[in-house]
Amino acid sequence: MEPTVFQTLEKRYKPRMNADEFQERLDRVQQRIREACARANRDESNVQLIAVSKTHGPEVIRVAADCGVTVLGESKVQEARAKIPMSPGHLSWHLIGHLQTNKIRHAVQLFDTIHSVDSQRLMEALDQGCAQVGVTMPIYLEVNVSGERSKYGVEPDDLPTVLEAAAGCTHLDILGLMTIPPFAPEADKARPFFASLRELRERCRGEWGFPFDGLSMGMSHDFEVAIEEGATCVRVGSALFGDRRAKMG
Ligand SMILES: *Cc1c(COP(=O)(O)O)cnc(C)c1O
Repeated sequence: MEPTVFQTLEKRYKPRMNADEFQERLDRVQQRIREACARANRDESNVQLIAVSKTHGPEVIRVAADCGVTVLGESKVQEARAKIPMSPGHLSWHLIGHLQTNKIRHAVQLFDTIHSVDSQRLMEALDQGCAQVGVTMPIYLEVNVSGERSKYGVEPDDLPTVLEAAAGCTHLDILGLMTIPPFAPEADKARPFFASLRELRERCRGEWGFPFDGLSMGMSHDFEVAIEEGATCVRVGSALFGDRRAKMG
């Protein structure tokens, strides 16, 4: 545990969160999920909500847990190492940010699922790390569907090769694909990227023989569009916890 990371966070971000305020935001997000499922003719039990708690301290996480949140998303291993031991024990933690190979061992011990397996090299190193610890890790392969050079993720063209290698990763359980589209204030601009990820999943199932269903896509401002395009898992931070930048000071 590294209390210094946590202390820095607590200083930088207001630690308090009113339970009524959180419950209201949670109800609203769940309502939006229901409405998007209804529009897409989908069963809402097929959409998992991941509450992205990055930058928020254990006090806020406890409020979320008291309101019924059970799955939390974190993007940094160091931050998670500081927070998870101070948080309620029944929660499930998902890693959604880039994982450096030198942090694999910690990640394997802290997280229940990893959404950000963004290269073949990381996938193979993670498989080894899981074998050493003696666990099987559920993962999503992150795909760079937009082709932005700044983005992490497997290139769509490389997916067949990566999947071939994945077949040999006996300590990984591939749940599906994940993506982060380029940021655009208008949610609908993300739709083609979400649709691309869904089409890639169809090819994984059909041409490449990987029968997974998972699509981890959609954030606070575009998760409804993601659900309409087939998301099975939405990663929602600021719509639940408030704007991270506004909390600085
Ligand atoms: C921060 C983050 C989210 C949540 O973002 P919001 O816009 O706050 O909902 C989702 N996915 C990833 C990969 C993130 O880093």
